Amino acid sequence: MNLRTIICFFLTLATAFAQTTVIRAGTLIDGKSNAVRRDQVIVIRGNRIESVSEAATTKISAGAAVIDLSKETVLPGLIDSHTHIFLQGEAPDQGGYDANILNAPLALRAARATVAVRRALEQGFTTLRDVETEGAGYGDIGIKQAIEGGYIPGPRLFVATRAISTTGGYPLEGYAPELEMPKGAQIVDGPVEARKAAREQLDHGADWIKVYMTHRSWVGKNGELVSQPTLTVEELRAIVDEAHGWGKKVACHAYSGIGLHRALDGGCDSIEHGLDLDDAAIAQMLKQGTWYVPTLTPYYLDWAPADTPAGRRDRLRASAHEPSFKKALKAGVKIVFGTDMGGIPWTEPIAQEFSRMVEFGMQPMDAIQSATSRAATMLDMEGELGVVAPGALADIVAVGGDPLHDIKTLENVDFVMKDGRVFRSK
Ligand SMILES: [Zn+2]
Repeated sequence: MNLRTIICFFLTLATAFAQTTVIRAGTLIDGKSNAVRRDQVIVIRGNRIESVSEAATTKISAGAAVIDLSKETVLPGLIDSHTHIFLQGEAPDQGGYDANILNAPLALRAARATVAVRRALEQGFTTLRDVETEGAGYGDIGIKQAIEGGYIPGPRLFVATRAISTTGGYPLEGYAPELEMPKGAQIVDGPVEARKAAREQLDHGADWIKVYMTHRSWVGKNGELVSQPTLTVEELRAIVDEAHGWGKKVACHAYSGIGLHRALDGGCDSIEHGLDLDDAAIAQMLKQGTWYVPTLTPYYLDWAPADTPAGRRDRLRASAHEPSFKKALKAGVKIVFGTDMGGIPWTEPIAQEFSRMVEFGMQPMDAIQSATSRAATMLDMEGELGVVAPGALADIVAVGGDPLHDIKTLENVDFVMKDGRVFRSK
């Protein structure tokens, strides 16, 4: 051994010790197991979890940094699988959705998205699947690069870029027909354009493709929820075929009826919202292994006045959503946590969605898994995200109480580690 080798050896050793962090977990909900474990020790080396073991029998190495969460409940970093970092819950009295596209410079939108991702991380959401930028083009790719480059704090992002809908299938709308208005999604008509849009988005770095399979909705003659369908099965199949060829998945916004069934016939990987799932849709979701991201919260907030068409529609949406969720839960559809944050202002607690899920009959542990291991599986990150286990990325959060007893506890995350680095501690 020459001197250089010896120095190298000690440097490597020193680095290894410096990078070892040990978390003492009073209670551990690992994201995958239904069993809760007490008094665990989690050893983290670099950005990965090395081991999880009983505190009583684990010897902690002398050089390790110890984080004492022995009075806390420790969980994997949470995953929100339906967000819009480029939306801010646009208030109608401030111009609503349209003002964001027409008046806000892209730099302003990026600055606000930077705040949104920070808010998510502060609340323990260490991963987001962000399902389109609402007219901000490929801005999500830029924000993702800024996070990965360490310029700004934020969760791991799985991004969908521009999203796809059809003519008549997305705002901005309601302007004079002579005007060529910008749209909040990429508009396609026909399978050729659909495939081309998917190729463009994938080429520019989309991790997922987002498709709007329904657009407007209203109360039908028989009091039923009617949703305007957008893409045909043929158009959707071109997108799904292209995305799957790239090893990527397709998320479909679909409320009910024709558009919902086209989404399933066309092979969507996840149904977003699914406000009015009929029995045939549920059976098809089970058969095809389709994920269901219900995003309950926004449909129970900010209803239009009761005596208006929009108000009646808003109430009908909510009254259809609850039984849809319950039927899907009972049938064993793979339900994944998603909020539609951005549609909701980022100042709101993201974890409030857990309360809705539990209120509608989901067990708290199931709700937690919908935002951890189950979401990770949907994202093709099984074993890497959404679990506190050896080999997983060290995304770890903690809360002061017991979320299995009171799910609202998850609205007060007081410790956040992402990639082995502490972002927030008490
Ligand atoms: Zn959405």
